[in-house]
Amino acid sequence: MAIESIKVSIKKPRFAWLNNRCVPWDECVLHVRTQAVYFGANVFEGIRAYWNEESKQLYVFKLDEHLRRLEQGMRIMRMKPPMPTADIARGVLDVLRANEFRENVHITVTAYFGTSDDFDPLFATEDTGAHITGVPFDRVSALFAGVNACVSSWRRISDDSVPPRIKVGANYQNSRLAQHEARMNGYHTAVMLNNQGKVSETPGACLMMVRDGQLITPPVTADILESVTRGTLMQIARDDLKIPVVERDMDRTELYIADELIVCGTIAEVVPMISVDRLAVGDGTAGPITQKIRERYFTLVRGGDERHASSLTPVY
Ligand code: PMP
Repeated sequence: MAIESIKVSIKKPRFAWLNNRCVPWDECVLHVRTQAVYFGANVFEGIRAYWNEESKQLYVFKLDEHLRRLEQGMRIMRMKPPMPTADIARGVLDVLRANEFRENVHITVTAYFGTSDDFDPLFATEDTGAHITGVPFDRVSALFAGVNACVSSWRRISDDSVPPRIKVGANYQNSRLAQHEARMNGYHTAVMLNNQGKVSETPGACLMMVRDGQLITPPVTADILESVTRGTLMQIARDDLKIPVVERDMDRTELYIADELIVCGTIAEVVPMISVDRLAVGDGTAGPITQKIRERYFTLVRGGDERHASSLTPVY
């Protein structure tokens, strides 16, 4: 993932979920000749579950929305759904319960291509399946301190070649190149431009900018993932903070004069980007709008905002 978790060592969970049943963690495996392992041919989701200590409840955040995006990804990849989505939703809850998680968890839900009759990794196959895993995962280390970014020399993949709208494993080789280049050069992460030269997103999260009191973010046609978190933050800004939200193309040089920049995603949550290409963003710390949005987001995901109760699926 693009930004590290605060936890350095995570104990191996006891159970994972493979094709409709909970299995011991080490038995949740695919053969090396599946198209998924060979070519990264899968569609997946990264989802968080939040532990609320007061109510002793674990809440899965926007499970339905994530599974809808999974369905869209399978459709675009012409993948035969391995099972009804309701079974996958049940699987998420089953695996969380089996592990008796009472902490924040990061969940992956993956639908994969197996093998074709002749083992050709590109050949159409109806051999598909799904796996689900959850691991304890707290906030990322950069949540408050923020990240320094460069503009990547790698362009974002585009909708007319490898669509970034969907979460396919193989898409992340583009992210990997950008992320590793950024790290090698002493940055935490990168901002990627699309083939039109406009700002798209970071290797594993979306990007928002505050300029002159507006919250601005690239549109869904800017070669970004249609991020669940992005949608949530736009709603918080509009409804709770009464800040105008604008979806429009963003130029590279706007990053250099932005008042605030926000990296947002399921893992990142709401991380301030505090410099781009060594130019400080604002005063080089989390700006006031970033802080307000982050605070609201944290309340909402833990079940502290009645209006968003339908976004949360209780596990216990
Ligand atoms: N862009 C990319 C490339 C991502 O991998 C992610 C993480 N899933 C995001 C954006 C943020 O999406 P979401 O808010 O749905 O996690």
